Amino acid sequence: MSFTLHGIGVSGGIAIGRAHLVSHATLEVNHYVVPPHQVASESMRFDAAINAVRLEFNALHHEIPVGAPAEFSAFVNLHRMILDDPTLSVEPRRIIETEQCNAEWAIKLQTDSLLAQFDAIEDSYLRERRNDVIQVVERILKALSGQPGYVPPPDTGDEQALILVAHDLSPADVVQFKRHNFASFITNVGGTTSHTAVVARSLNIPSIVALHRARELVRENELIIVDGSNGVLIVDPDARVLAEYQLRKQAFGEERHKLTGLRDTRAITRDGVAVELHANIELPEDVQQALANGATGIGLFRSEFLFLNRSDLPDEDEQFEAYRSVALAMKGWPVTIRTYDLGADKQIEDSEFQAINPALGLRAIRLCLTEPQRFLSQLRALLRASHYGHISILIPMLASSSEIDQTLLMIARAKASLDNEGIAYDRNVRVGGMIEVPAAALALDVFLRKLDFISIGTNDLIQYTLAIDRADESVAHLYDPLHPAILGLVSNIIKYANRAGVPVNMCGEMAGDVSLTRLLLGLGLRNFSMHAAHVPDVKQQVLNTDVSALKSAAQRMLKASEPLRLKLLLAKMNLTNTA
Ligand code: PEP
Ligand code: MG
Repeated sequence: MSFTLHGIGVSGGIAIGRAHLVSHATLEVNHYVVPPHQVASESMRFDAAINAVRLEFNALHHEIPVGAPAEFSAFVNLHRMILDDPTLSVEPRRIIETEQCNAEWAIKLQTDSLLAQFDAIEDSYLRERRNDVIQVVERILKALSGQPGYVPPPDTGDEQALILVAHDLSPADVVQFKRHNFASFITNVGGTTSHTAVVARSLNIPSIVALHRARELVRENELIIVDGSNGVLIVDPDARVLAEYQLRKQAFGEERHKLTGLRDTRAITRDGVAVELHANIELPEDVQQALANGATGIGLFRSEFLFLNRSDLPDEDEQFEAYRSVALAMKGWPVTIRTYDLGADKQIEDSEFQAINPALGLRAIRLCLTEPQRFLSQLRALLRASHYGHISILIPMLASSSEIDQTLLMIARAKASLDNEGIAYDRNVRVGGMIEVPAAALALDVFLRKLDFISIGTNDLIQYTLAIDRADESVAHLYDPLHPAILGLVSNIIKYANRAGVPVNMCGEMAGDVSLTRLLLGLGLRNFSMHAAHVPDVKQQVLNTDVSALKSAAQRMLKASEPLRLKLLLAKMNLTNTA
């Protein structure tokens, strides 16, 4: 039966493919009594399922490409070990025999008892492994139901026809998709600027969040259409709708292809104003996409993603190699690396600490300053890498003067330790701060005096100014970059930084929103950093813009307060580009 669901489109374009449900087990299974003469065959059914999953893991292990991240094979091995442990591969057999029940029920009973034991474990690493047990159990249950679990082979053509349907995905889950080639993904929960959505946008595949019950309503392998531009999901479309969306998909692809021709064109407005368009990246390999889309620098390398999806932490040398590889690949173009912004929705695996309100807790620089050794090793790695390219260091979530002082002191300590060891680094490496907490925007003066540059993080600036949790879909509709408070703050940050001669850039999602490009140019912004995929669109807009004609229109928007009037003024600015 065909039906449509509406959510929040976080990455544009159209995908047409088969649904693949990403399970988070509820472990709801049927229970029935097996007559004595069928107990032996039920046990054999169980053994066959265990063998089938073992074969799946073997296949997965062999398909790991050379050079794939180490955690990939560690993850497969861990799941193999869990499967082979007698508590899962033997004990349910005993339950089938003694309880005379079906295999699924025996597995459920055994899993419940195992998970209860996990919950009682003190060690957080071991406790976390309960999810691995659930994932292995899900595979066994799938094998029993006759559908083998889907083993995503990295980078195969088949993935292009798959649309992942999940209740929720963490930013760490999504960043793993970068190594895959899925057509799209959709989730029940999430907000426009949740980190999950931010990473989704960087994958450059259509995606929708906040679809509420999609995971429950869509069935495995069902044909679905994802319209990421409009946040519309169409399940089991009829032939007419399918044909219509196939045409739209083709037109979207052709438009994208045309824009790739702009790669080597400089971003200069019609009246000769040069604009820098940089890329945001999460992993070193994203640099290739940045270059392919014509970015002339990396404006934000979210280094915390090096710390996710692993049970250990990257040491100084590993980080150094990652930062240096980006600096070298960018061949002298500027590279701004943000010190790790962990905490809130980006937790490392060994984190035992559960904040009461994580977005307002020990996050980003606050966390760094409580862990001086870990922070120092990142700073040393960054400084060492600065010898190999044009690196700047960016500090997230600064709110007060004392945090700037402490951070600069830590950088001085890192430099002194390198000096002692005779290790080279760029002595002029610039240190900048994210302006993403309203306090920083309102007390900008001290930031402009103490830092070499600033970068406006609109995602958090909006979250903290409008008091809307960016990961909570129930308040996602309140996200509003045109809110007068946001426009006022952004305009002042740009104005005062320009006046003080301190370079200012914007690296939040607003910078990659082509409908806001002219407004931001009119407010005086000249350096934008966004997901690489957005660079061609924004460049096209820059090329079609006359900045001198925008200033008074931008000022008119700053004076408006009614949402409808603001929208109309923006539409007029985008349509006519006249004062
Ligand atoms: C921001 O807050 O705007 C930003 C760029 O950083 P992040 O999205 O990683 O918090
Ligand atoms: Mg931020």
